[in-house]
Amino acid sequence: MEKQEIMLREIFDNFLKGSTVFRNREVLRHDYVPDNLPHREDHICRLAEIVTPVLKGSLCSNGLIYGKTGTGKTAVTKFVLKQLGEKAFELGSSLRMSFVNCRVTGTEYRVLSALCSSIDVKVPFTGLAVGEVFDRFKRAVDSRDTLLIVILDEIDTIVKDRGDVLLYELTRINTSLRKSKVAVLGISNDLRFKELLDPRVLSTLSEEEIVFSPYNADELQNILEGRAEIAFQEGALSNGAVKLCAALAAAEHGDARRALDLLRVAGELAERKGDRRVSEDHVRQAEKRIEHDRITETLRTLPTHSKIVLLSVYLLSRSNIARSITGDIYNLYCELCDEMGLSPLTQRRVSGLINELDVIGLLNSRVASLGRYGRTRKTSLGVPRRIVRERFAEDERLRHMVDYRPRYLSCPP
Ligand code: ADP
Ligand code: MG
Repeated sequence: MEKQEIMLREIFDNFLKGSTVFRNREVLRHDYVPDNLPHREDHICRLAEIVTPVLKGSLCSNGLIYGKTGTGKTAVTKFVLKQLGEKAFELGSSLRMSFVNCRVTGTEYRVLSALCSSIDVKVPFTGLAVGEVFDRFKRAVDSRDTLLIVILDEIDTIVKDRGDVLLYELTRINTSLRKSKVAVLGISNDLRFKELLDPRVLSTLSEEEIVFSPYNADELQNILEGRAEIAFQEGALSNGAVKLCAALAAAEHGDARRALDLLRVAGELAERKGDRRVSEDHVRQAEKRIEHDRITETLRTLPTHSKIVLLSVYLLSRSNIARSITGDIYNLYCELCDEMGLSPLTQRRVSGLINELDVIGLLNSRVASLGRYGRTRKTSLGVPRRIVRERFAEDERLRHMVDYRPRYLSCPP
């Protein structure tokens, strides 16, 4: 039998035998909300205290929840609001909640139409002015005679793109409602989010604030153990593997999502190899896999000119210039643009792009002193050359450029 046939048969057979490693892989997904959130008792209580007034028919305060990714903001909020909803239902109080993830939803228009559909108002997919949709939303809320809690998760993403007009309107909405009332809870992954807001919006939105700090390694280990109990077959997970996932995620920024990803991918790798027990080795391989996927995804979604800047650094490094000065990168960038029939951006803009690529880790850029000749910036690739090459080879416009030979190099190798 051919090698690939054997491989396929193994995949089918393993699947039919049932997983040797997982019992319920679903609980390792990001959007799974566990019944128990260790190390977040204080946050749960704080949020519960903020929203409880709605059970007696009073409006609760607006609030702002923030902390880095994977610190449990979404899970805690969903957990508290679910319980709140159940209690309100028991009491027969008129409470509605709209939970919208702004990053996934995308635009202000879509956030608004999601809010509309949560109170059963249909809005065309496109075509109306944002102001018109907002008016419909307002009229509909008022006609429902209700308390409405609007939860805007990953709110920083719309504010960064579009400013805070929607938030301004939302936090002012009660002044023009007669029968209903609206409270807004914003959740942000970006700690500097507050700086982006108009002071008037900020003061209304942050009547209450809850900050989520990163988890440490012990806390992450606890969280993982709770999840692993449901996710894995008995004995399928070594203690060392859990510990390592927790340690790696803690070293990054205390991100529970990262820790869960490591655990899931390690389990999948073990399963694929037919190993019955997830070991530290699997976790290390998982770390590499995740990193590889992350780079691949970032490379794929890069705007064209950033790709060309990166390609320039790539080509320079292939010509044995590991760390290039901005002037050389720019010259080559212009040459590549010319080859590709594009008009180049100014050197200033390209400098800005180099900065951005440095921030996301695709490039490493450092200012070096040239002694009495002043200072210059030297830039090198921040990721393995092989991955850059592989991804660019998939890009129709760049495919022909990965083997390009620069015409002019100011400092030949
Ligand atoms: P954030 O919204 O802050 O980015 P999430 O709430 O999405 O973080 O949490 C990321 C993942 O980690 C989710 O799968 C969540 O269920 C899990 N998680 C976070 N904190 C805890 C906790 N204290 N206990 C159990 N699971 C947690
Ligand atoms: Mg979240």
